Amino acid sequence: MNEGRKPYIAGNWKMNLDRAKALDLIKTIKGRLGDGNDREVAVFCPSVYLADVSAVAQGSPLGVGAQNLWFERDGAYTGELSSAMLREVGADRVLIGHSERRHVLLEPDDWMARKMRAALDGSLLPILCVGEKLEERKGNRTERVLKRQLEAGFSDIQAEEIRRVTIAYEPVWAIGTGETATPLQVGEVHKFIRRWVASRLGAEAGEAIRVLYGGSVNPGNVKALMSVPDVDGVLVGGASLKPDTFLPLIEFDR
Ligand code: PEP
Repeated sequence: MNEGRKPYIAGNWKMNLDRAKALDLIKTIKGRLGDGNDREVAVFCPSVYLADVSAVAQGSPLGVGAQNLWFERDGAYTGELSSAMLREVGADRVLIGHSERRHVLLEPDDWMARKMRAALDGSLLPILCVGEKLEERKGNRTERVLKRQLEAGFSDIQAEEIRRVTIAYEPVWAIGTGETATPLQVGEVHKFIRRWVASRLGAEAGEAIRVLYGGSVNPGNVKALMSVPDVDGVLVGGASLKPDTFLPLIEFDR
């Protein structure tokens, strides 16, 4: 963690919960949120619940985001949602390139720049998710894979936009598996990502960008992960679905 970068705790609900459970959870989180001065908290909920969830969150510093978007403004894209549509139902941010979109839905790298552009042009704050698969880590290809994903995602981003952009490092082998990357592994990769941003957009951008870690984060490991120097927050899947596992994450002790 770094004093100049506000810690960011984000929950990714994926395709979980129903409307009643989503509303219960957001009410509970809202009730326990501080003034938002020392940490940023957001949930990324299923798009069909965005209007209801964001209505509950309104008036609090809680961010509410979508889990994906399509990069065109409108047109014949059956099943897709534009940034304007997501804004209209209350989203203020969006996940781009989550590992499940890349590896289950087979989204290619070259969509990421267009999605990042569509998010920023549509006043949504993007989190670009990057991460290597197990065989890529074992084959010493982690940095090569991350560089490719970062180059694709940032190809249309300018230095002055960097404070609106967040990166989440999520090793694919640690997502939903209960296996967490060690603080040493996380520290190495986060340093690599920050250096890459500095080389691409300048030292100031490298210092300003927030880099989150995601992959089986839970109340038992959050403190160790958050104390890694280049970790500015966490992106949490499974543990974000219940108050007894998510509240300790948003209330982690600095
Ligand atoms: C995620 O969905 O981004 C994630 C990291 O999931 P989990 O915390 O369940 O590993």
